[in-house]
Amino acid sequence: MKYLQKCNDCGKYGLTNPKSKCTHCGGTLINPFPPKYSPVDKYSKYRIIYFKEEFKKRFEES
Ligand SMILES: [Zn+2]
Repeated sequence: MKYLQKCNDCGKYGLTNPKSKCTHCGGTLINPFPPKYSPVDKYSKYRIIYFKEEFKKRFEES
């Protein structure tokens, strides 16, 4: 299975290869869509922060 990756140095796209090197400039290939930037993770993180704040408020008020 092949994955499209982006060069960290020149910004061009290339396929994953065993050395993870850019075929254009020899730079490091990176995943253009890392899991930490996924919208699902982002929103769940905000949800957790929101619920924590709500919980704190209620706890402090009572
Ligand atoms: Zn490159």
